[in-house]
Amino acid sequence: MNELSTKICVMYLIGGDKHFLTEQEAEAVKEAIKRGDKYIDLGNTFFAVNQFAKLISGADFAEVERIKQGEWVCRKHNNWVPKGMQCGLC
Ligand SMILES: [Zn+2]
Repeated sequence: MNELSTKICVMYLIGGDKHFLTEQEAEAVKEAIKRGDKYIDLGNTFFAVNQFAKLISGADFAEVERIKQGEWVCRKHNNWVPKGMQCGLC
């Protein structure tokens, strides 16, 4: 995993809108929700906490995107395999 993708979090709002956040922004979102704030202001993104759906790390997001593209992981070899292909190590 490269450095960039591990430092980016993805926040989903209800309805499916997604926003890419830095780790710092993601922390600000978590803190605001824990405090019970009604609104979150990230400067370029302002939303009501009741619109918040979930927050995932960039690493998880990259994996979800690869699976959506049809790639799969051979768990035995921890090997990413392209869509429609067999694991070359099995
Ligand atoms: Zn395999």
